[in-house]
Parts: sequence; structure tokens; C-alpha cells
Amino acid sequence: MKRLIEDASRYLMNTYSRYPLLLVKGRGTRVYDYDGKEYLDFVGGIAVNVLGHCHPRVVVAIQKQAQRLIHVSNLYHIEPQIRLARLIVENSFADRVFFCNSGAEANEAAIKLARRYGKDHFGQERYWIITAYNSFHGRTMATITATGQEKVRKGFEPLLPGFKYVPFDDIDALKDALDEKTCAVMLEPIQGEGGVRLPSQEYFKEVRSLCDETGTLLILDEVQTGMGRTGRLFAYEHYGIEPDIMTLAKGLGGGVPIGAMLAREDVAASFTPGTHASTFGGNPLVCQAALATIETLLEDDRYILRECERLGEYLINRLYKLQEEFSGIIVDIRGKGLMVGLELTRECQPIVRAAMERGLLINCTAGTTLRFTPPLTITEKDIDRALDILADIFWRLS
Ligand SMILES: *Cc1c(COP(=O)(O)O)cnc(C)c1O
Repeated sequence: MKRLIEDASRYLMNTYSRYPLLLVKGRGTRVYDYDGKEYLDFVGGIAVNVLGHCHPRVVVAIQKQAQRLIHVSNLYHIEPQIRLARLIVENSFADRVFFCNSGAEANEAAIKLARRYGKDHFGQERYWIITAYNSFHGRTMATITATGQEKVRKGFEPLLPGFKYVPFDDIDALKDALDEKTCAVMLEPIQGEGGVRLPSQEYFKEVRSLCDETGTLLILDEVQTGMGRTGRLFAYEHYGIEPDIMTLAKGLGGGVPIGAMLAREDVAASFTPGTHASTFGGNPLVCQAALATIETLLEDDRYILRECERLGEYLINRLYKLQEEFSGIIVDIRGKGLMVGLELTRECQPIVRAAMERGLLINCTAGTTLRFTPPLTITEKDIDRALDILADIFWRLS
């Protein structure tokens, strides 16, 4: 393991500060390192492994498709892609889907579609997009511009023109920023990388009304919140609104790289042949994995999603109990479903490392927020175990 990790620092671009851990196997909510040590996984590939590791339905779907056909060009019709698009459309606000390979690419597609729509319906000057401070939309040039965080953009200027930023959950700021040149507002239903930040319940209703009054498109980035993470298939369902465009990736393929950009019919109409494309987008292999993932989430009357909602409440209630005990360490508890943040009075990186030593993988976001994004198939017992480990670490700190 040590030798491989040395090779990693020699041969790989130095873009991640990785933990000295090499994972080689996974089953359900557990992963195993090179030496066979077991870890309870509350990272879940950062909200990717919605069905846990190597879910049999996903594994079999990939195996079968790999034997049949792995890739053909989008010059031709692709059966699993058609079936996947239909399943997504039948279970969302959308009428049409474009497939790509990641969250950033899905957001790129959304930005391009919004600009085309703006120009088609309102003229050449209508291309501005408003996003939120503290947001995260990806690492390509357009999506770092869309991302309202200085740290992801620094050194990559000049950025893409036509972006404005407003504080999240502040409808007045959005009203002030929006004008006749704005083609779209792009927001996360819950800010993920920004530290699991939930808006007030009215916010998205007000955003929706403002967009309707002005003919502005509402783009929801559900790359992290989508695919059941918050206890609904899509997080917009919590707010009683629908977007005009939505992006998905992370959990969509149960672990394989796939992204999607969805839109209503009249909006999708601005993409015509030749306006956008992706070589790998929606290839047979990844679409089968995504089909297996969504079918599993929806089966037994959405059993996994209902469990996600119940277990999210269980986790949050247990975290409140932990806060009573460690009020000097825990500042705030935020979340919906199994997307939960625990804000601490201190940097959470040392706690992440201590948890790893004790066999628990957990993520740290926005510096001081521990983020829980376990598989949606987690159990109460797993949650108890994770919180016992954290309680032990907090006890030593206090
Ligand atoms: C992770 C994430 C992205 C970027 O996804 P990639 O697949 O890494 O490009 C975009 N938006 C949100 C909300 C995310 O959480």
C-alpha cells in the first residue's frame, strides 16, 4: 500500500490532498483497504453511491451490458439511453433529457441551453445567469465561473462573461440583480459543498414566482441533492415548485460516471441537431447502470426513499442528542434526508482523520462542517455505530 501511495504522488497530477488510504473493495455500506481493514462509509463517494457499494442489481446490469455492447456513437439510437430518458421523464417535471458524463458537464449543457433559449426568445443581449455565493457547480471554465466561491476560480482568469452572484436564500437580492438581460437563475436546492445550507421554506416559491413574472429560466443543480439523497427522488419536490432545467450526476449511475440535463419541452426546443453533443454521453453501459439504480430506488413504492427520509430524521435527532453532550464542539445541525451537515467550532479535518483510524469514513466540507452522505441503504445500527465513534472522538477533545 505504501509503495502504491508513493507512486501516486510521483505519477498523478497533484490536484487532490488525499488521505493515506487505498480502498480496494466495497459491499453495501462497507469498504475495505489494501490490508483488508473494514470501514463504515459515510462518504459514499460524496453522495454518489446511493445504493451502497457494488449493489447486485447494478453489478448484474453492468456485467450483462458489457457482454452485449459497451459503446456506440450517438450517431445511432441506443436502447438503454432511450429507456433511461423515458424513466427519468416519467418521474420528473421534465419532457426531455440530454446525457453527459459528469455534474460539471450537465451544468455546462444547462448554461448553453439557457443562453440559446434567452437569445431565441428575447434577443442577443439576454445571456446573463445569476447564481449564489457559496454555491458549487463544477470545475470547468463555465462552471467555476458559475460557482460563487473565489477559491475555485483563483488563477484561472479571465472567466466567462455574463455571470452575477447573489446571497443564497435572499429573495430581495435576487430581485435587485435580475433584469431584462438575465436568461436564467441557477441554484442548488440545498448548497452541498457550501456546507449543507438549506434555504427557508418560502425561498424557492418566491424564486419561482420571480422567474415566472420575468420569463427567466430556473435551473436547479441537483447534481448532489438528486437521486433520492434528500428523501425525495428530486429535492425540488420538497419546495412545491418545478424548475425549467435540472442537472443530475453523482448518484444517477449508482457509481458509474453519468450526468444528465433535463428540461421542459419548450425550453429543450432551443437545442437542435448540432448545438450540443457528447461522445460518451448516455452510452449503453452507463445507462444500464443508471436504469438499475433508478428502478431500485423506485421499487416497492419507493421504499429506499422513504427509508432515507426516516433514517435522515433518526440521524439528525441523534446528532441533537450529541450536541447536548458536546455543546462546546457542535455549533449547528443541518440537513434533509441523508444529506446532513454537522457544523463544529473547529476545523473538522483532524476529526475526519481520527474517525478513519477508528474505521469510519466521513467527509469535511467548508472547513468546519462534517458532512454525512452515506448510502441510502444504511441502517439504524450503522448510524449508531458512526455516532458512537464520533462521540468517542469528541469526548477526547473536550
Ligand atoms: C459535485 C457537484 C458538481 C460537479 O460534479 P462533477 O461530476 O464533479 O463535475 C456540480 N454541482 C454540484 C451541486 C455538486 O455537488
